[in-house]
Amino acid sequence: MLRALHHPLAEHILTHLRDRTTKPATFRSLAYQLTVMLAIDATHDLPTEAKAIDTPLEPMTGRVLAHPPIVVVAILRAGVAMVQPFMDTFPDVSVGYVGLERDHVTAVARNYYCKLPPLPGKRIFVVDPMLATGGSAVQALTVVKQHGGADPRLVCIVAAPEGAAEVQRHHPDTSIHVAVLDRALNERKYILPGLGDFGDRLYGT
Ligand code: URA
Repeated sequence: MLRALHHPLAEHILTHLRDRTTKPATFRSLAYQLTVMLAIDATHDLPTEAKAIDTPLEPMTGRVLAHPPIVVVAILRAGVAMVQPFMDTFPDVSVGYVGLERDHVTAVARNYYCKLPPLPGKRIFVVDPMLATGGSAVQALTVVKQHGGADPRLVCIVAAPEGAAEVQRHHPDTSIHVAVLDRALNERKYILPGLGDFGDRLYGT
Protein backbone atom coordinates (compact mmCIF):
# COMPACT_ATOMS: atom_id res chain seq x y z
CA MET A 1 0.00 0.00 0.00
CA LEU A 2 1.39 3.40 -0.97
CA ARG A 3 -0.23 6.47 0.48
CA ALA A 4 0.68 10.01 -0.67
CA LEU A 5 -0.11 13.29 1.07
CA HIS A 6 -2.81 15.24 -0.71
CA HIS A 7 -2.73 18.64 0.93
CA PRO A 8 -2.14 22.12 -0.49
CA LEU A 9 0.42 22.88 2.22
CA ALA A 10 2.38 19.74 1.34
CA GLU A 11 2.48 20.83 -2.33
CA HIS A 12 3.61 24.30 -1.32
CA ILE A 13 6.43 22.98 0.88
CA LEU A 14 7.50 20.44 -1.74
CA THR A 15 7.81 23.06 -4.46
CA HIS A 16 10.16 25.10 -2.29
CA LEU A 17 12.11 21.97 -1.32
CA ARG A 18 12.58 21.10 -4.99
CA ASP A 19 13.66 24.63 -5.95
CA ARG A 20 17.43 24.61 -6.51
CA THR A 21 17.75 28.14 -5.13
CA THR A 22 16.42 27.12 -1.68
CA LYS A 23 19.25 27.47 0.85
CA PRO A 24 20.13 24.68 3.37
CA ALA A 25 18.63 26.49 6.39
CA THR A 26 15.28 26.91 4.62
CA PHE A 27 15.54 23.39 3.22
CA ARG A 28 15.94 21.96 6.75
CA SER A 29 12.95 23.87 8.04
CA LEU A 30 10.75 22.81 5.10
CA ALA A 31 11.83 19.18 5.50
CA TYR A 32 10.90 19.41 9.18
CA GLN A 33 7.42 20.79 8.42
CA LEU A 34 6.72 18.20 5.75
CA THR A 35 7.86 15.37 8.02
CA VAL A 36 5.46 16.52 10.74
CA MET A 37 2.66 16.23 8.17
CA LEU A 38 3.91 12.79 7.13
CA ALA A 39 4.28 11.65 10.75
CA ILE A 40 0.67 12.61 11.42
CA ASP A 41 -0.54 10.89 8.26
CA ALA A 42 1.45 7.70 8.85
CA THR A 43 0.07 7.38 12.39
CA HIS A 44 -3.57 8.02 11.53
CA ASP A 45 -4.58 4.64 12.98
CA LEU A 46 -2.62 4.66 16.24
CA PRO A 47 -4.69 3.14 19.05
CA THR A 48 -6.20 5.44 21.67
CA GLU A 49 -7.78 4.82 25.07
CA ALA A 50 -10.36 6.64 27.16
CA LYS A 51 -9.18 9.15 29.77
CA ALA A 52 -11.48 10.91 32.22
CA ILE A 53 -10.57 14.59 32.76
CA ASP A 54 -12.16 17.78 34.01
CA THR A 55 -12.32 20.72 31.62
CA PRO A 56 -12.65 24.13 33.32
CA LEU A 57 -16.41 23.69 32.83
CA GLU A 58 -17.28 20.02 33.41
CA PRO A 59 -15.99 16.45 33.59
CA MET A 60 -15.61 14.57 30.33
CA THR A 61 -13.97 11.48 28.91
CA GLY A 62 -11.42 12.22 26.22
CA ARG A 63 -9.04 9.92 24.37
CA VAL A 64 -5.25 9.72 24.60
CA LEU A 65 -2.63 7.74 22.74
CA ALA A 66 -2.38 4.18 24.02
CA HIS A 67 0.46 1.72 23.80
CA PRO A 68 2.44 0.70 21.80
CA PRO A 69 5.16 3.38 21.87
CA ILE A 70 6.71 4.56 18.63
CA VAL A 71 10.16 3.72 17.30
CA VAL A 72 11.65 5.76 14.49
CA VAL A 73 14.45 4.07 12.58
CA ALA A 74 16.40 6.56 10.49
CA ILE A 75 18.45 5.46 7.52
CA LEU A 76 21.73 7.44 7.72
CA ARG A 77 22.49 10.04 6.77
CA ALA A 78 19.51 11.87 5.24
CA GLY A 79 16.95 10.05 7.41
CA VAL A 80 18.28 11.96 10.45
CA ALA A 81 16.37 15.00 9.19
CA MET A 82 13.11 13.13 9.83
CA VAL A 83 13.81 12.10 13.45
CA GLN A 84 13.26 15.40 15.28
CA PRO A 85 9.82 16.06 13.76
CA PHE A 86 8.63 12.64 14.98
CA MET A 87 10.13 13.26 18.44
CA ASP A 88 8.56 16.69 18.69
CA THR A 89 5.15 15.43 17.55
CA PHE A 90 4.72 12.32 19.70
CA PRO A 91 5.19 11.97 23.47
CA ASP A 92 6.83 8.54 23.55
CA VAL A 93 9.42 7.94 20.81
CA SER A 94 12.66 6.02 20.79
CA VAL A 95 15.10 6.18 17.91
CA GLY A 96 17.29 3.73 16.01
CA TYR A 97 19.78 4.23 13.23
CA VAL A 98 20.76 2.05 10.30
CA GLY A 99 23.74 3.16 8.26
CA LEU A 100 23.31 2.36 4.60
CA GLU A 101 25.48 4.17 2.12
CA ARG A 102 24.60 4.36 -1.54
CA ASP A 103 27.57 3.73 -3.79
CA HIS A 104 27.44 6.62 -6.26
CA VAL A 105 28.65 4.40 -9.13
CA THR A 106 26.70 1.15 -8.58
CA ALA A 107 23.81 2.67 -6.55
CA VAL A 108 23.94 -0.45 -4.29
CA ALA A 109 23.42 0.10 -0.53
CA ARG A 110 26.15 -1.01 1.95
CA ASN A 111 25.25 -1.59 5.65
CA TYR A 112 27.93 0.03 7.85
CA TYR A 113 26.07 0.82 11.12
CA CYS A 114 23.12 -0.51 13.13
CA LYS A 115 21.92 0.70 16.54
CA LEU A 116 18.32 -0.13 17.42
CA PRO A 117 16.21 0.12 20.59
CA PRO A 118 14.10 -2.93 21.58
CA LEU A 119 11.60 -3.39 18.74
CA PRO A 120 9.13 -6.15 19.75
CA GLY A 121 5.72 -4.73 20.55
CA LYS A 122 6.52 -1.24 19.16
CA ARG A 123 5.03 0.74 16.27
CA ILE A 124 7.97 1.16 13.93
CA PHE A 125 8.52 3.82 11.28
CA VAL A 126 11.56 3.54 9.02
CA VAL A 127 12.37 7.00 7.70
CA ASP A 128 14.39 7.99 4.63
CA PRO A 129 13.53 11.10 2.63
CA MET A 130 14.28 9.76 -0.85
CA LEU A 131 12.97 6.35 -1.97
CA ALA A 132 14.99 5.95 -5.18
CA THR A 133 15.98 2.39 -6.14
CA GLY A 134 14.51 1.03 -2.91
CA GLY A 135 17.74 -0.83 -2.04
CA SER A 136 18.34 0.95 1.28
CA ALA A 137 14.71 0.78 2.33
CA VAL A 138 14.48 -2.95 1.58
CA GLN A 139 17.65 -3.59 3.62
CA ALA A 140 16.53 -1.40 6.53
CA LEU A 141 13.12 -3.09 6.68
CA THR A 142 14.84 -6.49 6.64
CA VAL A 143 17.17 -5.44 9.50
CA VAL A 144 14.19 -4.19 11.53
CA LYS A 145 12.36 -7.50 11.05
CA GLN A 146 15.52 -9.47 11.95
CA HIS A 147 15.56 -7.53 15.27
CA GLY A 148 11.98 -8.53 16.06
CA GLY A 149 10.19 -5.49 14.65
CA ALA A 150 6.73 -6.38 13.34
CA ASP A 151 4.92 -4.57 10.54
CA PRO A 152 7.30 -1.61 10.11
CA ARG A 153 6.04 1.30 8.01
CA LEU A 154 8.20 3.23 5.59
CA VAL A 155 7.98 7.03 5.56
CA CYS A 156 9.62 9.02 2.75
CA ILE A 157 9.32 12.53 1.37
CA VAL A 158 9.77 11.72 -2.34
CA ALA A 159 9.44 8.27 -3.92
CA ALA A 160 10.22 6.95 -7.39
CA PRO A 161 7.86 4.31 -8.79
CA GLU A 162 10.86 1.97 -9.17
CA GLY A 163 11.72 2.23 -5.46
CA ALA A 164 8.16 1.77 -4.32
CA ALA A 165 7.83 -1.34 -6.53
CA GLU A 166 11.09 -2.78 -5.16
CA VAL A 167 9.91 -2.34 -1.55
CA GLN A 168 6.53 -3.86 -2.41
CA ARG A 169 8.27 -6.81 -4.09
CA HIS A 170 10.43 -7.62 -1.01
CA HIS A 171 8.05 -6.45 1.75
CA PRO A 172 4.54 -6.76 0.29
CA ASP A 173 2.85 -6.05 3.64
CA THR A 174 4.73 -2.78 4.29
CA SER A 175 2.76 0.45 4.07
CA ILE A 176 4.69 3.20 2.32
CA HIS A 177 3.83 6.79 3.28
CA VAL A 178 5.19 9.51 0.99
CA ALA A 179 4.63 13.20 0.43
CA VAL A 180 4.75 12.62 -3.33
CA LEU A 181 5.30 9.87 -5.89
CA ASP A 182 7.54 11.30 -8.62
CA ARG A 183 7.95 10.29 -12.27
CA ALA A 184 11.02 8.06 -12.57
CA LEU A 185 14.73 7.55 -11.88
CA ASN A 186 17.36 8.92 -14.22
CA GLU A 187 20.37 6.90 -15.42
CA ARG A 188 22.32 7.92 -12.24
CA LYS A 189 19.44 6.71 -10.05
CA TYR A 190 18.31 10.16 -9.00
CA ILE A 191 14.60 10.84 -8.77
CA LEU A 192 12.97 13.02 -11.47
CA PRO A 193 11.89 15.73 -11.07
CA GLY A 194 13.01 15.13 -7.48
CA LEU A 195 15.02 17.63 -5.50
CA GLY A 196 18.63 16.51 -6.05
CA ASP A 197 20.74 14.91 -3.33
CA PHE A 198 18.73 15.38 -0.13
CA GLY A 199 21.72 14.95 2.19
CA ASP A 200 23.84 17.43 0.25
CA ARG A 201 21.06 20.00 0.25
CA LEU A 202 20.33 19.43 3.94
CA TYR A 203 23.92 19.75 5.12
CA GLY A 204 25.21 22.08 2.40
CA THR A 205 27.82 19.55 1.23
N1 URA B 1 18.89 10.18 -2.97
C1 URA B 1 18.75 11.52 -3.08
O1 URA B 1 19.15 12.27 -2.19
N2 URA B 1 18.17 12.00 -4.19
C2 URA B 1 17.72 11.23 -5.19
O2 URA B 1 17.18 11.75 -6.18
C3 URA B 1 17.87 9.83 -5.06
C4 URA B 1 18.46 9.33 -3.94
